[in-house]
Amino acid sequence: MSIISKKKAALIKHGFIYKKTPAGTGLYCSEALDKAGGIRHGFSTREGGITKDPPYASLNLSWNRGGSAEEVIANFRIFAEGAGISYDDMAVVNHEHGSVVLRLDNEHRGRGFSLEPLPFCDGIITNDPSVALVTSHADCGAYFFYDPVHRAIGMAHAGWKGTFLRIGARMAERMAEEYGTRPENIIASTGPCICKTCFEVDEELGAKFAAEFDQEGITMPGKPGKAYVDLELAAAVQFVEAGIKPENITLMNACTYEDKDMFFSHRRDKGITGSMAAFIQLM
Ligand SMILES: [Zn+2]
Repeated sequence: MSIISKKKAALIKHGFIYKKTPAGTGLYCSEALDKAGGIRHGFSTREGGITKDPPYASLNLSWNRGGSAEEVIANFRIFAEGAGISYDDMAVVNHEHGSVVLRLDNEHRGRGFSLEPLPFCDGIITNDPSVALVTSHADCGAYFFYDPVHRAIGMAHAGWKGTFLRIGARMAERMAEEYGTRPENIIASTGPCICKTCFEVDEELGAKFAAEFDQEGITMPGKPGKAYVDLELAAAVQFVEAGIKPENITLMNACTYEDKDMFFSHRRDKGITGSMAAFIQLM
């Protein structure tokens, strides 16, 4: 038995739209979210930034990795310009690989930028068009949620831990509590992340994923003592379990580990690397 039957799996959309912005940056977007209208969203690439030091070149969007704070701020300003959002509207998740989801409003604009970081959280939601939700990634998954009926959005950072803890399901629940969101109205997409043929883990962790997500293909055997985990499929499973319709789910299927020109990858670059950012904002 699988949570997502073959029939449902056939309804899930795969792929992304790549946009080169006037600011010289790149964005990976979901066609379904674009078509829904009323929001801006996207996932950055390493293109178009000012950082010269190769492992962090060029659009490094993390303060915790390399380069000066001034450089990262300049990169975030370029990112915002390319995204068509205001630098001052952004609030960035303060991820700890958990499953805490915070509701943000106007007063959170600038948190993690000009204002102090948010409390630890891996998911952020809002129904306020004045705040742009931002998450940061270097192999970890990004979940974009949009409820066009209640005009509410959510953005999550989902590493393997957050994926395992079902940060996507937690975010759908929180949007229901705060905004009356019904899961069948959510349009959901993953962003670029490390793919199922690149994400090798210890056999024990593979077994935990197989036990947690009742879905054929969640794990694959690897070298002795190793396994591969399909984090995007685990995202889709928790979305469907939460009541999101398969036809409203997009999996971008873009691998951060494999595409060195487009993406930083924590694993490929052995931790000496920058970060991308994802964002969503109501218009
Ligand atoms: Zn890959």
